[in-house]
Amino acid sequence: MRLADLPIRDELRGKEPYGAPQLDVPVALNTNENSYPVPGPVVDAIVAAVRAEASGLNRYPDREATALREDLAGYLGHGLTVHDVWAANGSNEVLQELLQAFGGPGRTALGFTPAYSMHPILALGTGTAWVDGRRNDDFSVDAESAAADVRKHDPDVVFLCSPNNPTGTALGLDVVDAVLAESRGMVIVDEAYAEFARAGTPSALTRLGADHRLVVTRTMSKAFALAGARLGYLAAHPAVVDAIQLVRLPYHLSSLTQAAARAALAHTGVLLATVEAIKEQRDRIVAELGVRGLPVVPSDANFVLFGGLGDQRAVWQRILDHGVLIRDVGLTGYLRVTAGTPAETDAFLAALDAALDEKGQQ
Ligand code: PMP
Repeated sequence: MRLADLPIRDELRGKEPYGAPQLDVPVALNTNENSYPVPGPVVDAIVAAVRAEASGLNRYPDREATALREDLAGYLGHGLTVHDVWAANGSNEVLQELLQAFGGPGRTALGFTPAYSMHPILALGTGTAWVDGRRNDDFSVDAESAAADVRKHDPDVVFLCSPNNPTGTALGLDVVDAVLAESRGMVIVDEAYAEFARAGTPSALTRLGADHRLVVTRTMSKAFALAGARLGYLAAHPAVVDAIQLVRLPYHLSSLTQAAARAALAHTGVLLATVEAIKEQRDRIVAELGVRGLPVVPSDANFVLFGGLGDQRAVWQRILDHGVLIRDVGLTGYLRVTAGTPAETDAFLAALDAALDEKGQQ
């Protein structure tokens, strides 16, 4: 009895699940997590908050997650309120809910590949057709070609990702404006890595008032170092939040998750203190790879995409053999590495040098 023997939906036959390797290695720089553990005082606050909820677990959680959404709106600023914000178990769930509400059978989503690999997978799972838009050779997207892709495909949902995973490329707001102007559907700007952007990089949050079809998604998994807590959120017009109520599971966000996220948000300053240190390592990796003559994509995120590797799968394996796990995102000649602690950068560079030496010897 195998999967293929089940009466599974035709479009899922032969498909691969999302599957970044979860290996037990000394240095894991493959899923853009924050390498810094949650600091002690924040751990204490989270434990106290979760403890306070424990005896009430006989009751369902606040279905609306109102207090948490208020806190998230306060963090985002831009005059946003609880009505403009929605939260779920990771931004993956938020994105899935958006596709459940605005995509679906007979509808189309457009993304600018290579971008976050879950966007097309979520489209598949929700029965939404997927079309690829074009990026330039340097992985940038410009307003004219983005608008032309929208004209050509007339999508119901457009995914923009800024800074983009896996390239680290941030988008100009001219692209967001052009896509909004050209399309009749929803425009989702996935800003999972926004906190790592270099100074002067604009956020689509500044455009929210201008168009009710614009949605900005964020997460506590990266800058806030809370990937394990599973908390993502969106900011949009309150009507978008209303639309999501039609598809969200009741009580989707456990009271433990809500309490933990609120306790963390009360310590935003402490948690985000690692962001500058990570950006330093990111810029160091970019500089060091440049010194080695490898083409590097400028990054506004907590990771770096670099090329010039030929058979990237073989280089990935050799780096792994030296105890450092990075990511093969399926782009020929390229690999992606997460920026972590200074010691992790040292380990990555040493493993890379060893891997490239071995490659030269072959
Ligand atoms: N968007 C992007 C661009 C990502 O890279 C990720 C995680 N890798 C996510 C969304 C989802 O993150 P989470 O579900 O942890 O919020």
